[in-house]
Amino acid sequence: TPMSTPGGSRVKEEKIFVTVRVRPLSKKEQGLKDPVAWECIDDHTILYTASSQDRSSSPASYTFDRVFGPSCLTETVYEEGAKDVALSALTGINATIFAYGQTSSGKTYTMRGVTESAVNDIYKHIGNTPERSFLIKISAMEIYNENVKDLLKPDSGSLRLLDDPEKGTIVEKLEEEIVKDSQHLRHLIGICEAQRQVGETALNDTSSRSHQIIRLTVESSLRENSGCVKSFVASLNFVDLAGSERAAQTNANGTRLKEGCHINRSLLTLTTVIRKLSIGKRSGHIPYRDSKLTRILQLSLGGNARTAIICTMSPALSHVEQSRNTLFFATCAK
Ligand code: ADP
Ligand code: MG
Repeated sequence: TPMSTPGGSRVKEEKIFVTVRVRPLSKKEQGLKDPVAWECIDDHTILYTASSQDRSSSPASYTFDRVFGPSCLTETVYEEGAKDVALSALTGINATIFAYGQTSSGKTYTMRGVTESAVNDIYKHIGNTPERSFLIKISAMEIYNENVKDLLKPDSGSLRLLDDPEKGTIVEKLEEEIVKDSQHLRHLIGICEAQRQVGETALNDTSSRSHQIIRLTVESSLRENSGCVKSFVASLNFVDLAGSERAAQTNANGTRLKEGCHINRSLLTLTTVIRKLSIGKRSGHIPYRDSKLTRILQLSLGGNARTAIICTMSPALSHVEQSRNTLFFATCAK
């Protein structure tokens, strides 16, 4: 992975780091004697093992930057699937870590642990870098039905997006708190999660329809200013996406197969943006502006930003269609 100097030369265009995490069978799946349909045969390969009488032409095995089996700890998922991307924000590079997968596949479980590990690492790095000063700020939002809600200031209603010539798209009136230390940061993240759960009980099943973004803004400069001002501002985004069953299903050419009123505009646009970014320079126009999620994340996706996507799935046979869709998305993203 090429390293970059903050404020220095251009960063090489990065590929998206794509990993897959298979959770253990749930109690419910075990109770229903739902068979396991997938096996992680090594650190990069997942294999469909259920006897295949189905007519689909889906491949039997898929390879990714990393595949995490059901016994993998979230700590490992962080270390090997997200850490490099998270820490790049401390050197001035915008970064985004996503969890993508169907509802109940483990997105929230994974993102919670990844965020916690990243917070620990960020403060470890700050402690080990006495020559620089760091200021961390947090903001958090939820996108539900293309409405943006502030998770740190829940009574503020639906927030507008504005275009700023320098900062790109900004969320008007979004609360941003200065973080004092790691404990304070954990506390603030806890508030966001509690807030999201309030919404969930009030409105049936919102988490499957909403996207949550926790954004850390890192401002840093050299303490002894010896002429060269090496200051930067970077954002690090933790994104827990709406359930992927809300994305339109596409075939190998990216043509939509199914679409209905349940389709989530932000999720659909994100999948298009990710697919185009993975194709690279020749992919032409990238439709960031087609959804709130992609507008908000534009400067932290593609270009000089670094992106990790953790795709989560159930191992159960009953979920095989959704798991295949997830693996198909993951294949397009890499
Ligand atoms: P999602 O956010 O994708 O809807 P959740 O993260 O809420 O899914 O996970 C669904 C359930 O499965 C939760 O009860 C969660 O604790 C459990 N779970 C998810 N991933 C794992 C895992 N890797 N190990 C153990 N339990 C898990
Ligand atoms: Mg969830």
